[in-house]
Amino acid sequence: MSTFSAPKGTYDLLPPDSATFLAVREAISAPLKRSGYGYVETPGFEQVELFSRGVGESTDIVTKEMYTLTTKGGDQLALRPEGTASVLRAALQANLHKAGVLPVKLWYSGSYYRYERPQAGRYRHFSQVGAEAIGAEDPALDAELIILAVDAYTSLGLSNFRLLLNSLGDKVCRPVYRAALQDFLRALDLDEETRRRIEINPLRVLDDKREAVQKQLAGAPLIADHLCEACKAYHEQVRELLTAAGVRYEDDPKLVRGLDYYTRTTFEFVHDGLGSQSAVGGGGRYDGLSEMIGGPALPSVGWALGVDRTVLALKAEGIELELPPATQVFAVPLGEEARRVLFATVTELRRAGIAADFAFGGKGLKNAMKSANRSGARFAVIAGERDLTEGVVQLKNLESGEQIPVALDTVVAELQAKLA
Ligand code: ATP
Ligand code: MG
Repeated sequence: MSTFSAPKGTYDLLPPDSATFLAVREAISAPLKRSGYGYVETPGFEQVELFSRGVGESTDIVTKEMYTLTTKGGDQLALRPEGTASVLRAALQANLHKAGVLPVKLWYSGSYYRYERPQAGRYRHFSQVGAEAIGAEDPALDAELIILAVDAYTSLGLSNFRLLLNSLGDKVCRPVYRAALQDFLRALDLDEETRRRIEINPLRVLDDKREAVQKQLAGAPLIADHLCEACKAYHEQVRELLTAAGVRYEDDPKLVRGLDYYTRTTFEFVHDGLGSQSAVGGGGRYDGLSEMIGGPALPSVGWALGVDRTVLALKAEGIELELPPATQVFAVPLGEEARRVLFATVTELRRAGIAADFAFGGKGLKNAMKSANRSGARFAVIAGERDLTEGVVQLKNLESGEQIPVALDTVVAELQAKLA
């Protein structure tokens, strides 16, 4: 123990579990990389305004969860609570939307920060992989992104997840629905804060997790009954494309999600093995966001999948990913001369693409073999003074226990052949 521990609501990723974490990031990004999405990386902090305007003044993210700071120079910054606003800001700043063909398709991976009440699956520092397709209004694009997320989960072996789907309408039909919903909500018995929310962002009241509130919402008007013809047709196309791709979804007319900027297609992936923190990912169309942060009209769609919760979902389903071994060959030298020789062999193995490690710290045979076994290596290369005078090393198969002498100058080639 040191005097310090990781801040509340955060945790450290350590081997061997950290390998699963990396593999999940890799698995989520793989379908994007082969679908025309380019990698984007933005700073870990931005001007507070970007999020308060982009994510929305009425969201929990902005009102309660943002880590804000004032720099010595007087700038108001926030640790990024989500990725979309930053990615759009970066695309606009670099004029990507003017430089080439639309949509601009980008993916990202990184750390996000929200001051939340820490609990299982809910942290103050967490990790997302996300994707954004900027500047096109096409139901096929919404479908593409949803399919890529489904393919990512499926490639990890997950099956106990569901896709919830809704449309939030557009600037034509949403305001009419909003007014109808407000009328309904104002008549309910709700607390002060929720009543305020009715005036700022009534759709979010539908998202209230409290049972007493949900009970009262039973007869609430639903957006599905208020969509304009254009939104209805758009949504129908998204659904048809998903069905054609073999993607199952559940219509969830109350799905609104946490961010203010969504329009039309909205979706969430929930995993049934995670208890109350069941959302493993979500996204949707955000046709108005660009204008909200000072850009031109750029209809866009995107998602973010939570890496932490995806790892928890794997655990819940009892899935162990098949990961490449961290170490394939472990070298055990006995004596000074052997240390020099085997250290060179290890370097050569690594340069030949073989994952190799070495018994550091001048351990005795017994301890060194313990390290070799713990490393997960398939082979140990052992050498003492006598082996070296004969120009050989001992090649031990750590699975079978079989040990054979191999000429020192052929051991790398021999291991390459055995491990191929
Ligand atoms: P929730 O309803 O659970 O608060 P959210 O709607 O705030 O989720 P998004 O902003 O859509 O989440 O983020 C996308 C994904 O990122 C979520 O589905 C979840 O997997 C993950 N995520 C969000 N907040 C956290 C957190 N505090 N800790 C761990 N993962 C998170
Ligand atoms: Mg949240």
